[in-house]
Amino acid sequence: MRHPRFLDLLHVRVTALFLLLLAISVGAYFLWIRATLLQPPESTADTDAWWHDTKDAEIDSLSRDLAPRLDDPVQLTHALVQFGDHVRPYEAEVAVVDTSGSVVSSSDPDSLDAAIGELDPDLLHAMAQPDWDYESYPDPTSFDSYVNRIFAVVPLSADAERGGPDAYLVASFLPVTVTPADLQTDFRHLWFQAIVIMLTAGALSGIIVMMWISRRVHVLADGVSAFADGEYSRRVPARSRDDIGRLGRDFNSMASRLEALIVELRNKETFQRQLIANISHDLRSPMAALGGYVETLVLKADTLSPAQRDQYLEIISGNLDHLGRLIDHLLQLSRLDAGQARFQMEDFALAELLDGVLARCQPAAERKSVTLRTEMPDDLPNVHADPLQIAQVLQNLVDNGIKFNRPGGEVVIAAEPRADRVRISVRDNGEGIAPEVLPHIFDRFYTGDISRHRKGESNGLGLAISQKIVQGHDGEIEVTSRHGEGSAFAFTLPAALRARGAEG
Ligand code: ADP
Repeated sequence: MRHPRFLDLLHVRVTALFLLLLAISVGAYFLWIRATLLQPPESTADTDAWWHDTKDAEIDSLSRDLAPRLDDPVQLTHALVQFGDHVRPYEAEVAVVDTSGSVVSSSDPDSLDAAIGELDPDLLHAMAQPDWDYESYPDPTSFDSYVNRIFAVVPLSADAERGGPDAYLVASFLPVTVTPADLQTDFRHLWFQAIVIMLTAGALSGIIVMMWISRRVHVLADGVSAFADGEYSRRVPARSRDDIGRLGRDFNSMASRLEALIVELRNKETFQRQLIANISHDLRSPMAALGGYVETLVLKADTLSPAQRDQYLEIISGNLDHLGRLIDHLLQLSRLDAGQARFQMEDFALAELLDGVLARCQPAAERKSVTLRTEMPDDLPNVHADPLQIAQVLQNLVDNGIKFNRPGGEVVIAAEPRADRVRISVRDNGEGIAPEVLPHIFDRFYTGDISRHRKGESNGLGLAISQKIVQGHDGEIEVTSRHGEGSAFAFTLPAALRARGAEG
């Protein structure tokens, strides 16, 4: 048995398909996460530009705007909220804080305002100095404390002459909305989501793989069931190189063999039925004739003339001959079929055997005015065969040559050496065989001439028996014939062992 390649093994293909589907779904999930959660903020470019180019000017301008309104809380809040709306996209907010550190008003009262409560006045003062280094800030240990978010402190004076600020404009980033706890919750959520997605993807991939296999097995099972139900021409798809494909291919070749066997069996059955019908028919006709003549002889014994009685007895004898011949042929054929006919192989001279055959055929040839002759070289080697069986073959062939000949015709038996065999042919110049009849002449019970068959001369077994005997000698009977001109039958026999040994 041929071992399949590693990649053609079913479990390798199933595992590969499963992993591929899993990788595709998990990959798609991670791409989705990247696209949604890890996407950079859309306004980065705008924010950067605002931060670098316009932030300071805007805050300065706001501080100039606010300074005169410090006493008017409504105006103050209005200006702050308006500015707050403008900077919220950049995640910034502004508030006004008095010199003691308390928030007076804010653009986002719920964020910085709520977070601050109070600012350290000294820190505020320090941060308001032009040389305050925001980079040295923030304090890394408190990343969510409000001080980390302040990026500008501008002193506000209602009266510039008085000196010293009345309040400060504080600009800061909006508070970080994600706390470590939030992040943790988010990660837990992500993990949970990932596990659920992977389990679902795994289950779906498993289901798809199972469906793929089960659909293919289903198609296979359908084909096998149909075959089992008698649809012998049914085959299954077997293109794949994996185990299921191999199963399909093996099934198909088994089905082809079985189909051929079934056809052969059916043919045999038909043939057997035909055979029995033929035998019954061939036995019944002479039996009926025999019965009729015997009955006439018995009933009309007193009235029949001696000549009539002789004629009836001759007919009875002819029918008995025919019956005897038929039964002999049938027995011989069944022995040959069953392989029971053992050939008694020996070395012998063909010339002597032919003399015997010609002597037996001579009366029939004379009745039909047909001449018989032989053609063979004097130094023809002996042959190694069963003489009785070969005599039977030659007699059948010569009988046919006479039977299917016309008065004045001839039958020639020729023999010539051929390598280590001897070729024997029997040719006649009789009526020949029609091309449509030729393929059937070796079939059992086949007689080309129905009228002659009726007369009891033919039973269609002679050539079938001859062919079997020649095949038993490792040969084949060949036939050539021209309709209206004659036929020639030929076969070869092994030359005698001793002669061949001497030659070698
Ligand atoms: P049978 O001679 O009893 O009919 P065979 O098996 O010997 O049966 O021959 C089968 C048929 O082959 C014959 O009926 C005949 O039609 C044809 N055949 C055989 N030999 C010859 C021949 N020499 N010339 C013409 N037809 C022949």
